[in-house]
Amino acid sequence: MARVSTRVAGITPSATLAVDAKAKALRQAGEPVIGFGAGEPDYPTPTHIIEAAVAACRDERNHHYTPAGGLPELKAAIAAKTARDSGYEVSPSQVVITNGGKHAVFNAFGALLDPGDEVLLPAPYWTTYPEAIGLAGGVPVVVPADATRDFRVTVHQLEAACTDRTKVLLFVSPSNPTGAVYPKEQVAEIGRWAVDRGIWVITDEIYEHLTYDGHEHQSMPVLVPELAGTCVVVNGVAKTYAMTGWRVGWIVAPGDVADACANLQSHQTSNVDNIAQRAALAAVTGPLTDVEMMRASFDGRRRRLHELLDGIDGVKCLLPEGALYAFPSLEGVLGHGLGDTTLELADTVLERAKVAFVPGEAFGAPGYARFSFALGQDDIVEGVSRIAELFSRT
Ligand code: PMP
Repeated sequence: MARVSTRVAGITPSATLAVDAKAKALRQAGEPVIGFGAGEPDYPTPTHIIEAAVAACRDERNHHYTPAGGLPELKAAIAAKTARDSGYEVSPSQVVITNGGKHAVFNAFGALLDPGDEVLLPAPYWTTYPEAIGLAGGVPVVVPADATRDFRVTVHQLEAACTDRTKVLLFVSPSNPTGAVYPKEQVAEIGRWAVDRGIWVITDEIYEHLTYDGHEHQSMPVLVPELAGTCVVVNGVAKTYAMTGWRVGWIVAPGDVADACANLQSHQTSNVDNIAQRAALAAVTGPLTDVEMMRASFDGRRRRLHELLDGIDGVKCLLPEGALYAFPSLEGVLGHGLGDTTLELADTVLERAKVAFVPGEAFGAPGYARFSFALGQDDIVEGVSRIAELFSRT
């Protein structure tokens, strides 16, 4: 009998965390590593949020169990915030507070999938989605969209991938890892197609506030109200408020699915840490000024990173429209002595140029690589020049 269950042994280790760990180890050994691997804002959490958490520590109400599905005040605030930010009108009973957006993704698939149910998964995809689908017993059906398609899938492609086992479409815009933002008409078209096909949509809105150049996040159930009964929105405070370490996310789902998620969570984690929930309450009820400041600074770094990467021979990079990532093709560099795959290339670059990025294999897109632009302009310039220098030697 195997020591580790087949289910868990089958999980692919997170390549993003692996790169990060290797870069950190090199840094600890005194190497001047520049890391493009991080998937998080490089700002501290805004002060008013921290103050709310400090006050919450001193408040005895937060020292004990609270409802598994979330603090009622926070659920109400998230319903209000959802209406404010995306125009989606929901009731607090449709909200379940989770341990980050990642947990929200797991709960959504856990509540919807039976063994063998298929999930349409546009690629390049965030590494966690296929694992969450598989652990819930589902089968990811990858629908590829490379740079020639601006990293966006079409209804035509979705239709071709659909079978009588298809239960869910995973949709994310702005996207990790590609930075693509779907325009309004295309979001509506995909939503209408899902309604016609009777397919659920899990829509990940965690990067809703991080868009650039006039691209705007559009919430699918707002554009297609008929989708509301078969749609789960995933979101969280991590990216908007520089709160990745606090671990607060949520789902907004039809009442029966929200109840199912809360029930699942009642046996799994119980309530999310009350202090973190109080901090999240301050975040979602507070101003969006810090978000705007961070967005404006990411915007400048995004342009810089794109310009520098796209200027390297053999590298082709679309200008990211949202999120925190550029996703260039490095195909022109492969096979010239630094690596035959982006996985090998990432290793060589880390070892020889001391620069970390995440190879596209992690996102179902070999030949590409993810570069975060959540780092200072000086590091961006230094990191990309080291890469350019190394590539020029091939
Ligand atoms: N969705 C996407 C698309 C993400 O990129 C991330 C974080 N990398 C998450 C969800 C989850 O974020 P968290 O668990 O930190 O809230």
